[in-house]
Amino acid sequence: MIKKNTWFISFWIMLFIIVFMLMNFSRQKTREIELEYSRFKQYIKTGNVQNVLVGQNFIKGEFRKSSSNNIWQKFKTVPMNDPNLIKDMEENNIIKFSAITENGWLGPLFISWGPVILLVLLFSWMMRGMVSGGKRAMSFGKTKAKLTKKSSDKSKKITFKDVAGCEEAKEELQEVIEFLKEPIKFQKLGGKIPKGVLLFGSPGTGKTLLAKAVAGEADVPFFSSSGSEFVEMFVGVGASRIRDLFEQGRKSAPCLLFIDEIDAVGRHRFAGIGGGHDEREQTLNQLLVEMDGFNTREGVILIAATNRPDVLDPALLRPGRFDRQIIVQKPDLKGREEILDVHSKKIKLDSTVSLNIIARRTSGFVGADLANLVNEAALLAARNNQKTVTMRNMEEAIDRIIAGPQRKSHFMSNKEKKIVAYHEAGHALVAKLLPSIDPIHKVSIIPRGPALGYVLQIPEEDRYLTSRSEFLDKLTILFGGRVAEEIIFSEITTGARDDIAKATEIARKMVTEFGMSNKIGTITFQKPNEEIFLGRDISKDSRYSDKTLEIIDEEIKILINMSKSKASEVIKNNILVLNNIVISLLEKENLTGDDIDKIIEASKLE
Ligand code: ADP
Ligand code: ZN
Repeated sequence: MIKKNTWFISFWIMLFIIVFMLMNFSRQKTREIELEYSRFKQYIKTGNVQNVLVGQNFIKGEFRKSSSNNIWQKFKTVPMNDPNLIKDMEENNIIKFSAITENGWLGPLFISWGPVILLVLLFSWMMRGMVSGGKRAMSFGKTKAKLTKKSSDKSKKITFKDVAGCEEAKEELQEVIEFLKEPIKFQKLGGKIPKGVLLFGSPGTGKTLLAKAVAGEADVPFFSSSGSEFVEMFVGVGASRIRDLFEQGRKSAPCLLFIDEIDAVGRHRFAGIGGGHDEREQTLNQLLVEMDGFNTREGVILIAATNRPDVLDPALLRPGRFDRQIIVQKPDLKGREEILDVHSKKIKLDSTVSLNIIARRTSGFVGADLANLVNEAALLAARNNQKTVTMRNMEEAIDRIIAGPQRKSHFMSNKEKKIVAYHEAGHALVAKLLPSIDPIHKVSIIPRGPALGYVLQIPEEDRYLTSRSEFLDKLTILFGGRVAEEIIFSEITTGARDDIAKATEIARKMVTEFGMSNKIGTITFQKPNEEIFLGRDISKDSRYSDKTLEIIDEEIKILINMSKSKASEVIKNNILVLNNIVISLLEKENLTGDDIDKIIEASKLE
């Protein structure tokens, strides 16, 4: 937004400069020469003057040096009290002469500045055009909130029926709906209504959808905006937009105001570079003022959403502001099945499709992922000219969402393919032989997204706790790839880069957050609100001594080395199985968990 305007304005400045230079240039070319009056009279007498204009304070015209020379030049001279002038001109057949009663400067001024004035007019006209043209380029201080009016069309209205799962959140919001429906009656009955409702939850869990549905259920207008719209380069702009948003809300009460990503404005004051006296702080203050200032009786309710409740300024959460906080959780198995159901109503499903199985395979997916999954599957079906969406389309869509689209065109040499196959087979083998691990869904050496190959493990049910031995098994699986490469080729590649990064991260968390290291014990080393307060602590945390940090590093190393040697042991003891998996993988490119079970069984008989 800002950028566009700077462009726009600098374009105009450039244009002004160019026009100005051109004008000067042309003026220079036709510059008037000052003539003494006596010379002027001489030229009259020789008939070398034309187009004379006599004013009170000047005489202007054109002259040439001699009759043979036909270049007419402009001149200017000062009139004298000369009663003979007219007579002389008449006698010498001067072509055209005239007199003006001047207050004389306006005319010439307009002629010389005309183009500039025209430009200014044009410029202001364009600006007006842009503003009324809907782009509102210059209306910095106005809110950009999108308004969804009370919809008369019942079929388009979003209601709670469109929101699957989230039962607790819906229940909590019921009160808000009752209020918005009939604010006065609600209060007469003694209902006390929150001014603001804050929805917490991971991206894509349906916070925006819920807010929209509240407006739909209550049948009131819905103003939707995003926190980032209130953060502008110019001080005061954000604050004025907040004011405008509330202004709009009051005008259309009862109504619902929604601010997505409120953390963009609502961040803890005094945090961040710039010491706190910045635009954002002003905006936040304005928001607080507005929230204190408006009376719920007016029938305006503010709903805000964030996935970073930890960074919000405590002032926002005080009573009388966002005093109702609702957590919107990632859907569980049942929730996922319901969300899939809502979205697959819009497409034609084959009888092979079991939404329950898909829900089982998509642990960790949020509503937005599931909506996307159904959409992808429908697109895949359309691409194959199928009439209905099949289970295979759904499966492919899951893989796409987890690992990105297949890169069929990606060319790998046979050598590379073999290395990738051993790497993935290493992961898969270790995963199969360790007890506490999620089942393997698929092993593939078809490049997908950024990965050259992958092992897809999907938990059977949702998990909220992870044990120490599960973490250790995870680490061991992550090293299975690298270790297999090392054992087979006596050489290592960059292929394990991601695995190593993930493993290090897990090990660090085990030591510093989950209290899973003996030497460190059950102390957290997680910095409060990590990474947020850039301005506050850029350098390392000074609460811990170098000695402690050293021990942390050692403990991480121990965990990593332990799981690496475990992986090495598992693979060395099962080289035959590893080879058989690789042969199969190179042939088929994709293997399921069942395929791998069969290979393991068959290898036992060899
Ligand atoms: P958030 O605001 O939490 O980031 P959104 O409300 O924008 O998430 O969700 C994005 C999309 O995901 C929605 O438009 C909807 O299609 C889908 N979605 C998310 N949660 C649900 C749900 N509980 N039921 C149905 N669809 C959902
Ligand atoms: Zn790997």
